[in-house]
Amino acid sequence: MNKAILLANRPVGKPAESDFKFEDIDMPEAKDGEVLLKTTYVSVDPYLRGRMSDAKSYVPPFELNEPMSSAIIAEVTASNNQDFKAGDYVTAGLAWKLYQTSNGQGLTKVDPSVGLSAYLGVLGMTGLTALMGLQEIGKPKTGETLVVSGAAGAVGSIVGQIGKILGCKVIGIAGSDEKTALLKSKFGFDEAINYKTTKNMQEAIAAAAPDGVDIYFDNVGGDISDAVIFNMNKWGRIAICGTISSYNDTEASQGPRLQPYILKNSMLMQGFIVSNYAEKFPEGVKQLSDWLKAGKLQHAETIVDGFEQIPQAFMDLFEGKNEGKMVVKI
Ligand code: NDP
Repeated sequence: MNKAILLANRPVGKPAESDFKFEDIDMPEAKDGEVLLKTTYVSVDPYLRGRMSDAKSYVPPFELNEPMSSAIIAEVTASNNQDFKAGDYVTAGLAWKLYQTSNGQGLTKVDPSVGLSAYLGVLGMTGLTALMGLQEIGKPKTGETLVVSGAAGAVGSIVGQIGKILGCKVIGIAGSDEKTALLKSKFGFDEAINYKTTKNMQEAIAAAAPDGVDIYFDNVGGDISDAVIFNMNKWGRIAICGTISSYNDTEASQGPRLQPYILKNSMLMQGFIVSNYAEKFPEGVKQLSDWLKAGKLQHAETIVDGFEQIPQAFMDLFEGKNEGKMVVKI
């Protein structure tokens, strides 16, 4: 039995179940030089929303009626490739299929003793995004104040903890009281603000950051970001990591104009794609795993069971149903 999940429609606004199609497909066989892979964990990520649209971006759109893909952990169940043996676990960008073959290109072996799903989160793309964006654009200094939006998610929860390791005061913004409690109890944030119940975000941030904000790690964009940016200090740095609040918009939104404020305060605002820093990934993964082993980094995961749950788990990212990294276990 083999199955795939295809893109059935390009969503208008929020993605819906009808935008995905399940298909029974043939069971592949590993030819010479190939391995047979059994999917064990699938990463669902907000950026996949962009790939469901037919818009120019840094990654090409998914094709209609073709399998979707994301970062996956797979078990090698048969191998005709000398670099891999049955029982190895690997990670790569792979198709949403139960089984598929690969010629080995782009597959990275992972160590199951660390916990396989960690390679889709803290030791994978989202952990590296947190580290690279904060280090390369935020450039934190001891004693500075860092604000993180989307703080209880996969990227945000790691950003805040790295900020603490580097000696910053850290304020997190998230969408429920459970999440703000978690930010303080599990991840060691100094302050946490629930944006869904706070009437005046600009005032709430000013109260949490009496010395002003030096670094803003932005995962969400929109009104939340406007409220943070108007609290920023001279020489402030803004790392634009994501703008999930607008991913399902059907028209361009028009917010307050921030440019005069950014100019008057000599601030730096820079967007980034984690792959900009690909040459730094090996040292980044080493740093993240050292912190993890030393107990300095905690990571949370929301693990959903079952291949058929992949679309729902993805759609739930836009409802904030995850704490930490959203992963589907097959
Ligand atoms: P998360 O684990 O943070 O999951 C998404 C979270 O976003 C939800 O849990 C929800 O939390 C929050 N959210 C959803 N809708 C809204 C909204 N309208 N306004 C405010 N918050 C919302 O995902 P990731 O950690 O994987 O990604 C975080 C961000 O980083 C995304 O924008 C993503 O696109 C971006 N990203 C960018 C990369 C890059 O290379 N630049 C690489 C990886 C991710 P809540 O309950 O708090 O609302």
